[in-house]
This record gives sequence, C-alpha cells and structure tokens, in this order.
Amino acid sequence: MAPPTGAQIIARSLRDIGITVIFGIVGIPVVEIAEEAINLGIKFIGFRNEQAASYAASAYGYLTGRPGVCLVVGGPGVLHGMAGIGNANVNAFPLLLLAGSSETHLVSRGAFQELDAISLLTPHTKLALRPPTLESIPDVIQNTYRTSWYGRPGTGFVDLPADLIKGAVEDAEDIAEAAPIPDAPKGGVEEAKLFKIAQLLKSAKAPLVIIGKGAAYARAEQVIRELIERTNLPFLPTPMGKGVVADSHSANTASARSTALKEADVVLILGARLNWILHFGHAPKWNPSAQLIQVDISAEELGRNAGNADLGIIGDIGIAVSQLVQALGTWSYSTTSSPYIQHLSAAKSKNESTATSKASSSKLPMTYAHTFSVIERTLHRLSPPDNGGIVYVSEGANTMDISRSIFPVSHPRLRLDAGTYATMGVGLGYAMAAHAAYNNSAAEGQSGPARRKKIVALEGDSAFGFSAMEVETMARYGMDVLIFVMNNGGVYHGDSDDAEEWLKMQTKTQEGSGHGGLRSTSLGWEVGYEKLAEACGGAGYLVRTPEELEKATEAGFREKRVTVVNVIIEAGKGAKLEFGWQASGGKKKKSK
Ligand code: ADP
Ligand code: MG
Repeated sequence: MAPPTGAQIIARSLRDIGITVIFGIVGIPVVEIAEEAINLGIKFIGFRNEQAASYAASAYGYLTGRPGVCLVVGGPGVLHGMAGIGNANVNAFPLLLLAGSSETHLVSRGAFQELDAISLLTPHTKLALRPPTLESIPDVIQNTYRTSWYGRPGTGFVDLPADLIKGAVEDAEDIAEAAPIPDAPKGGVEEAKLFKIAQLLKSAKAPLVIIGKGAAYARAEQVIRELIERTNLPFLPTPMGKGVVADSHSANTASARSTALKEADVVLILGARLNWILHFGHAPKWNPSAQLIQVDISAEELGRNAGNADLGIIGDIGIAVSQLVQALGTWSYSTTSSPYIQHLSAAKSKNESTATSKASSSKLPMTYAHTFSVIERTLHRLSPPDNGGIVYVSEGANTMDISRSIFPVSHPRLRLDAGTYATMGVGLGYAMAAHAAYNNSAAEGQSGPARRKKIVALEGDSAFGFSAMEVETMARYGMDVLIFVMNNGGVYHGDSDDAEEWLKMQTKTQEGSGHGGLRSTSLGWEVGYEKLAEACGGAGYLVRTPEELEKATEAGFREKRVTVVNVIIEAGKGAKLEFGWQASGGKKKKSK
C-alpha cells in the first residue's frame, strides 16, 4: 500500500470519526481533501459562498446532534466562514471548521491567501489547532471534533497548511486510525435539589414550562411530552423550541405568550437562555417575583440576567426532566379553578380571532398574513403537521415573525429560523442542511417523523438575496427545496406600492438627489426571483393572487427540483421597524 498523503489522512480521519457529509467550497489547497473524501464515500456539498456553507454545517450539527463539518480555503475562505462560527457559537450548535492555509515555510512572506487563522479564531472557538505533523492529524481532528461537541456545543477549528495536505508519510504504519467518538456524556441533578424543585412546582399558582431549542437539540421530546401530559403544566415554546411538544397541544400558551410571562409565578426553563428572545427574564414582560428554574448544560447560564442560580440544574435536559417526572409522581396541576388558566384562555381566544381576521384580508397585493395562510392551508392539505413531513426554514424580519404562529409544527427540529443572532442570510444554507440531514437513505420508506421531508423556506426578499445563488447549489444536487420569496421590494416593509412611484424614486437617486429618491430599505421593483430558479434548472412561479399562490404551492410541493415561488405582496412606506418576538403578528401592536 502506498504511504498516504496528508489529504488522505485527513479524509480517512473524518470518515473514521463518522462524518458522512461535508459542506464547503474547494480551492487550493483543499481540493485534494474533498476529492479524497468523495472517494471514501463522504458526500461533499459544494456551495457558492463559504458563508452559506458554514451556516449549513452549523444547522446540520443542530439537526443531527453531532458537529456539522465545513471545509474551506484559507484567508478569504476563513473570513467568509467566520459567519458560521459566530452563528454556531451564539446558537450553541456544534460545528467543525477545516480550512487550508499557505505553506508553513512561507509564513510572514505574503504567501497565497496567507492568514494567521489560529490567532484570529482562537478567541471565537472552543479549540483551534494546526496539526504539527502528518502523524498528529487523526488525533487533532478527533479532539477538535469532540471538543466542539461535548459540553455546550460550539466551534472547533483545524488549520491545514498546504505542505501538510500535500505531504506524504514514509510508512503507513505511523498513522494511527481515528475512532468513532461516543455521544456526549450527560449529567443529572442531586436528590435534594430535585425535591425542592418538585415542591416549588407543586405549590405554584401559575406555573409555566418554557421549551427552548436546547430541549430540541437535547432530543428530550419524549420525556418533556410525558411531563406535560402527566402534570397539565402550561408550556411556551421559543421559536425553535416549537414541536418538542406539538403546537396543537391544549397546554400550549404560545398564542397567549404575554399573559403567560406576565402572570407565571414558577417557571421551568428547559434549554432557553434569558436573552433578548425571552426579554431577559425581566419585568415588565415577566412577573417580577417569578421563581425561575433553569435547566442548562452550561453552568454559566444559570442566574444570568434573572433567575435563582441555586434553583438551576446543570445537566442534560432529558435526564433532568425524567428525574423531575419521577419526583413529581402522580401530582398534576389543577387547571379547573385557576384564574391564571382562565386568563390564558381568554387571551388565546382574543389573539387567535385577531389572527384569523388578519389572515382573511382580501386585499391585493396580498398581505403577509393572508399569503402565509394560503400557503399553510395548501400545505396542510398535502401534508398534515402530524405527519412530520415538512421542515420550515424562515428568515426575514416580518416574514419570520408573522409566519411563526401561522405554521404549526408537531415534531421537534422541524423549524429553523434566524435564531439567536437574528441572522439574515442563513435560510438557504439551513434548507440544504435540513435536506441533507433528513433526506438520506435512512429516511426512505419511513413513515411518521422519520419520513423523508419536504423542505419549505419562507424568505423575505432581502433575506433571500444574501445567498440567492445557492439556488444553483440546490439545483445541482437535486434538492427539491420549495422556496417562497415574500417580495415587497424592500428590507422590512418595502417602500412603494406603485411602479411609477418607484421609478421616480430611482431616477431621483440616479440624478444624485437623495431626498425623494430610493430609501436605504429599497430593493428592486418586482424583481423576477422565480427566473433564477428557472435559469439554474429548477422551477419558478410568479404569483399575485391567492388562487395563483395556491396552485404554485401545490405544484411546488410536488416538484422534484428546487422551486422558487415569487409572491408579490403589499409594500408600505413607514411601517414600523420591529424585530423579533415583539413584532409577532402585526406591524403596530407590540403584544401578540
Ligand atoms: P432559544 O433560542 O430557544 O431560547 P437558546 O439557544 O437561548 O434557546 O438556549 C439553548 C440552551 O440550551 C443553551 O444555553 C444551551 O447551553 C442549552 N443546551 C443545549 N443542549 C443541552 C442539553 N443537552 N441539556 C441541557 N441544556 C442544553
Ligand atoms: Mg422585504
């Protein structure tokens, strides 16, 4: 057997630790690594920009519960890939980034794409290493992968100089084999604390369970469902915690969110941080005297911003909740005479009827709410939520906020959005990650939540533009993603509803007069995004009416290639700029 090259050692190590998919873009000096990986049966998904590739790898890590792997060139490839590092860290997604770098002996001379990536990335990763020798490659890859995964997930980085990739060892015997890495170890909670927490929950007048994306990542759905079933505790999912317990469950307080947070006196928080998404756990959104029981894998989260650190549980959500279920025994929360439950149902009915009336607006161009309700109704008919046959990816300020409550999910990890960083531009990468995570040979012929899934991306026109060329990647790999572009010709709200007015604005801008010209939020007038799909070998639809939208949704759902449905929706000057939960459901009203 010929002694292996560095590229072969790297590819073999990846295969040996169990990697089956790599996201990335090749160039000098990493082409050989990707080629060797493909030869070993690893799927390489070649993107059009490292940013989207690194986003995809991080989401793949979240969806599969093991680090996603991204391979890029050095210098600019690393700089573009840093987007995925930030995204992985802030969302606690596991990611392993591998990058090429210039020849070791040329360091400091201004070599091709030279960058001291280790110094750059050390503060932003859990571990950043450059293997000093060919022999050390398996160990370094193994340890970096493990470190990115164990504990709170984040990023591991391996820098691979060109001379190492091209080098060869003299004796194949010198190279140790990397071994598969066992699942991350899980910790639980001590008896005394468990007892205290159980007592606290039992004595609550207005209890609430918040379910975050950490619970989805922990794959704790079975035991959390058991907890809710046995105890009747009202629950509130965060945007990506949706589906751990089905949205349709009667204990779901999502449509009475403000009331639940304001009144709850004991809150069990499962894998959600008290950051902006949860208003920091502070009044006036929260009941200031609420007792907060946080369950998190990361000790640093307990008591941050709010909450009683001494009530917090450091450990795995699945284990902690099953211990808690035991400790609570046969107790259940009595909902019959609870004023809190009455307030919740009143708020639910009121908010749900407002939402229904918004969705039935017959205005043209269509409103967000109307558009989403047509898409939801059509998809619901083709694949009811309980089947778990659809993954929703959603980004764009209004698109994400308004769609969140309109598309119910019944199973965990079927909804990805802009996440903790509120990052626009993640959507198409996430859609490809979901396609790769769910539509492999294991999914063929399965029913229920394990089935093959249709990936549906709801994209604001601005958000779509961040990585629109990835439509070609989807077409190339035969990924039948269904993309809706909510086209209001602008960032947030769009600026004009009228072609002539828009043209005037553009002309003024070209003449150099700022006032009366295009605004900072303006995008092109009725851009033909559907043609991008057609140009790449996919299918495209331009729609303006509910009838056209329904037809395109059904056709797109059945399409076996990437499909872009370009929906012309209402644009309006001066709509209020809001972001996040606050904007859910409407432009003006702050509460939900
Ligand atoms: P959300 O966006 O839904 O509010 P966050 O990303 O803020 O969720 O919080 C998720 C939390 O879950 C993180 O603090 C992370 O440390 C934690 N976490 C991740 N996996 C586990 C696990 N297996 N057990 C416990 N906590 C976990
Ligand atoms: Mg827009």
